[in-house]
Amino acid sequence: MRSTIRLIAVVSLLLAASWAGAEEIAGLPLHLQEIDDGVIRLWVGDFTSSTAVTAFATSKGIVVVDTFGVPEIDTGLRRVIARELGRSDFAYLINTHEHSDHTGGNSVYDDCTIVGHELVAPGIAAFADRRDFRTNWYTNRITEIEGELENMADGEPEAAALEEDLIMTRLNLELDEAALEPALPNLTFSDRMTLDLGDTTFELAYIGGMHTASDIAVFVPEHALLFTGDTMADLWLTDNHGCLANFTVRAGMPHDFPRFLTNWDRLLEQSDRITNLLPGHWNGELSIQGAEARVEYVRALWEGINQAAEEGKSMAEVQAEYQLDIRFPELVGSPGFSPQINYASITELWRVITNQASAARTLFTLLGEDADEAAILEVLAAHNSDSSDYFFSEVEFNAYGYAFLQQDRINEAIRVFEINTGLYPESWNVYDSLGEALLRAGRIEDATAMYEKSLTLNPDSVSGKEALSKIQEDTASM
Ligand SMILES: [Zn+2]
Repeated sequence: MRSTIRLIAVVSLLLAASWAGAEEIAGLPLHLQEIDDGVIRLWVGDFTSSTAVTAFATSKGIVVVDTFGVPEIDTGLRRVIARELGRSDFAYLINTHEHSDHTGGNSVYDDCTIVGHELVAPGIAAFADRRDFRTNWYTNRITEIEGELENMADGEPEAAALEEDLIMTRLNLELDEAALEPALPNLTFSDRMTLDLGDTTFELAYIGGMHTASDIAVFVPEHALLFTGDTMADLWLTDNHGCLANFTVRAGMPHDFPRFLTNWDRLLEQSDRITNLLPGHWNGELSIQGAEARVEYVRALWEGINQAAEEGKSMAEVQAEYQLDIRFPELVGSPGFSPQINYASITELWRVITNQASAARTLFTLLGEDADEAAILEVLAAHNSDSSDYFFSEVEFNAYGYAFLQQDRINEAIRVFEINTGLYPESWNVYDSLGEALLRAGRIEDATAMYEKSLTLNPDSVSGKEALSKIQEDTASM
């Protein structure tokens, strides 16, 4: 173990970038980084936020953490690992989570024990179900990139990035079209597991719910390394974030917050034994302070919202109390954090803790299905009553109104925004949004009235002033 490993890691990353071109896999430059004695990290590409694969030479065989996600490339990487470590006794592959850019190369290691959380397999199955959507997306993206490249002069700096994107998108499309049987983990666990490889130990702990349902952390004490999968990073080495960009509590995902916090505490208690934190993608960096701040964020929300719910506070009060810039100033501007993401995380935690349904989401579903007026009124009646079935959020109603606008369902959008003005008559923004929907419906006079009302409440509203002068210009030219 080296005390200066972090510095070495950064320097060798820069060196690795300068070697680019020396060796390629599937037309993509190979990068190779020595993390510690007998530990190497590899990835391909210079621009795309792709997964880094790490390999350990242990006394009981080679252990690999994550795959690039494309068998053709993972076969090449496996060959390089064997060459660099001077052996080929591959024994274990560990998946940090279910995403295809980590598990898509599992089949290349089907002679090994594949280790992952028990929710990796259902995650992979759900991904396979969305194949059609992806095939379309990749096909369109390829046409788009080819078009952009055609209009670009030779040697333009963006061309190299686009060419790399094109190769990776084509590889992903081919992989999807091949519809291979996925290789699933055959050694799974739900909470914690230790792999004893003689001279090297792998301590695996479930930390799922932020990025996917199946995230784990992998602590390797003998090398002072902690893998955090795609759950967090506090610095990007390129503009391209990849899927690491969102640290948020996600709707519809199983969350076990007490377990999450217990497992993180156990890891962070050993922080003096961790010198190098490795996010799942090559272009992310993470510090102990960054990891601690994120864990403290979840703890503050979990404990605070539980207490607030017990004291009978409202969701709106909790949202006001836990605003990012007020309560978590150290996370403002950090990757994966924004006021909107914070708001969504609090909303989801509130839902989990109180068991209340979101009134906005329920009405969005009802209106989307042309449900009976009675059903809609029943939900609205929960506001201003002692009912604890629903919680109401101005921001959510507004977001669902815009969701209808995006679907060109103008009448439904108007209805949602009208409901919001009824619920929050003192908010300038609800009138501004309603004005926008009315304008889309061609109801100029009604829209004008709403923008005027919004400006009375907030005379500084730029969007209101702009909308009104646009309406005046348009009517003058008619
Ligand atoms: Zn991921």
